[in-house]
Amino acid sequence: MTDLAGKCALVTGSVQGIGLEIARALAEAGAAIAVHGLADGATAEAACAELVAAGAPEARFFGHDLSDPEAAGALVREVLAWRPIDILVNNAGIQHTAPLAEMPLEVFERILSINLTAAFATMQAALPGMAARGYGRVINIASVHGLVASVNKAPYVASKFGLVGMSRVAALEYAAAGSRESGGVTVNCICPGWTETAIIEPQIAARAALHGGDRAAGVADLLSEKQPSRRTSVAAEIGALALWLSNPIAHNLTGASIPVDGGWTAQ
Ligand code: NAD
Repeated sequence: MTDLAGKCALVTGSVQGIGLEIARALAEAGAAIAVHGLADGATAEAACAELVAAGAPEARFFGHDLSDPEAAGALVREVLAWRPIDILVNNAGIQHTAPLAEMPLEVFERILSINLTAAFATMQAALPGMAARGYGRVINIASVHGLVASVNKAPYVASKFGLVGMSRVAALEYAAAGSRESGGVTVNCICPGWTETAIIEPQIAARAALHGGDRAAGVADLLSEKQPSRRTSVAAEIGALALWLSNPIAHNLTGASIPVDGGWTAQ
């Protein structure tokens, strides 16, 4: 059992999808949660209420738009004014698919800002405090597309490969912080394959259209192309892994990129 009582986690993009399920897993273990994302007041309030019901002593919403390069550092500073950050999960991310020759430059830059630059700024602001306390976890939600490429995803693949590389640098710089007893400071990536959330709906819809609008057939088509298990993941499974990484027992697991992809990157 991982006991996170007295700890605080900032999970970016935690109003829905994978981020919300990671926040729920950490809340169930007793962590206070800095909830973040683009959401209206009612959605943000509902997420905070769910997380308190799950076991968080407190959940507070922060609404910074991470497409602004200054916003990520400001987000961490505002959370730090509330509580020290023990666990930082860089999860907020966006996708846009188009052939490289047709990808607008502003879309490339927006994806890089949200998926990569924001994680640089949050790590820069949060890691020194983790090192001073001897315990810290950075869990960056990359993707199979941080390990292998697919067509029509130039900015997304660039951002996720960047996230994997940058996480290794941070892991090395903080590897000696803390001790086995305190839990150390680790930096890792989780690399999901197809996971059923809003971000993949446009891709499911495009495949479903090839099968007369049959959504299940569209999902099966996507899976058969790349994911040998032929099963999608559900977001709570990513949450369970993030919780395990947060346990002090994982003090020597750092600089890794862990695929949760049904064998996609084993091929
Ligand atoms: P999602 O679309 O449900 O969630 C994305 C989150 O990012 C939302 O909470 C949203 O509020 C936040 N966000 C988007 N733009 C933002 C902005 N400008 N500023 C601040 N927050 C912003 O999708 P998800 O699947 O839960 O995605 C979470 C992460 O998982 C992403 O980084 C994504 O790349 C990664 N991922 C998802 C899959 C998958 O199949 N679902 C696979 C691999 C990796």
